[in-house]
Amino acid sequence: MKSLASDRIPKGGLALDELKASIEARLQVIQPAIPTPVRLVAVTKTFETHTVRSAYQLGIRDFGENKVQEALAKQAALSDLMDATWHFIGHVQSNKSLKVLEHFDWIHSVDSLKLANRLDRQAAELNKSPNCCLQVKLVPDPSKDGFDLDELKAALPELDKLMHLKICGLMVILPYGLNATRATEIFKQAEALRIDLQQQPWQHLRMDELSMGMSGDFELAIAAGATMVRIGSGLFGRRG
Ligand SMILES: *Cc1c(COP(=O)(O)O)cnc(C)c1O
Repeated sequence: MKSLASDRIPKGGLALDELKASIEARLQVIQPAIPTPVRLVAVTKTFETHTVRSAYQLGIRDFGENKVQEALAKQAALSDLMDATWHFIGHVQSNKSLKVLEHFDWIHSVDSLKLANRLDRQAAELNKSPNCCLQVKLVPDPSKDGFDLDELKAALPELDKLMHLKICGLMVILPYGLNATRATEIFKQAEALRIDLQQQPWQHLRMDELSMGMSGDFELAIAAGATMVRIGSGLFGRRG
């Protein structure tokens, strides 16, 4: 954990300007495929602080992390990047929810009513109002968290009463290893669900955002209606 947080260059690693050049080269391929209204969240989990800093210097402002401890160490080392926006994209363990609220502007992975209630109560105490997405599972996947469709529909009236969370859309993670046709089908289902929910008369809930698409499938996700894509290895290379 310590080495992740440091600005030290690992032995045998790329020199800083080489690192930056390699991110820049990948960004030049990826960025043209992302239309301006779609937000690119650079997923920096497992990558070191200097990788985040290089991405920042290349104009990236949105960073995604999935582990609280790792993220907090990096944020502390990068506290000079005042206008960085931090997105939590991993499962929120209940004993970490307070820290997630304190240190993240977005929570993409609100995956149960119980978690939402807890976050709402704690957000009130902290006087925070984080942007949140509801993580949905459109195909059964025991290895992933998230609301299944029936759970989501049952929970929405309760979620609509939470006044401290800005619930503003859906988040989807596909099961591993789907082909492009199947991936597109599920992305389109997600967009159809978002539109269906958006048209219902909620008090507080909004349904403008759709966080879906990773390095391997972000173009399909954007074509289907993603408003945010979460890209890690496509920008930074393979995770060690
Ligand atoms: C790791 C991760 C990503 C990025 O995955 P890549 O394939 O490296 O782009 C996106 N979303 C979530 C939730 C992740 O955990």
